[in-house]
Amino acid sequence: MLPPTPKSTLLPRRTAAAALVIMPALWLGVRAQPAPVRRATPSQTEGPFYPVALPADSDADLLRNGSRTPYGGGQASWVEGTVHDLDGKALAGAQVEIWQCDEQGHYHHPGDGNRADAGFQGFGRVTVGADGRYRFRTIRPVPYTGRTPHIHVKVRLDRRELLTTQLYVEGDPGNARDGLWRRLDDIDRAAVTVPFERANDGLRARFPIVVPA
Ligand code: FE
Repeated sequence: MLPPTPKSTLLPRRTAAAALVIMPALWLGVRAQPAPVRRATPSQTEGPFYPVALPADSDADLLRNGSRTPYGGGQASWVEGTVHDLDGKALAGAQVEIWQCDEQGHYHHPGDGNRADAGFQGFGRVTVGADGRYRFRTIRPVPYTGRTPHIHVKVRLDRRELLTTQLYVEGDPGNARDGLWRRLDDIDRAAVTVPFERANDGLRARFPIVVPA
């Protein structure tokens, strides 16, 4: 006569059978979600110099601050690109903001003694259209104590902040010494480090932005 089967060996068998039924369903459920077609632009710290109050002139042309003499410092540059979501859809209505120091390395900020050149707007904001495109007129960023050249970038949609990051200059020798740049992996570095190439009217940098929306 066979000994009675202990309950402890029956229960796991039932559990395992149930798992065989449930797990393929879960697996199919996961498979049913379309994979994102793009990788999100990495975020970076905001830094201490986001404007306390936005300047009266906060348009896309940082080389003209209100009625002041156009800013002649630095290397005039176009910084342009697109804003897409992870599925590759242009994010119409998103606002792109940039802020950066002037050619002398100073921000319009009390934390930096408000020493930036009055003719340099230092901050700009644009709303992207249906094509997702944005464009700023500014200068190639310059280094200041402890930092490689960078432009701060923020993306908002309505009241939500979707991204705060920093844009770097490809090939700048300061990048490899910059703590914030160094902490990015190779793929993320490539996403936020772009060439400032010679164009007809100064330099041009293209920075495509991808945000989870
Ligand atoms: Fe900065």
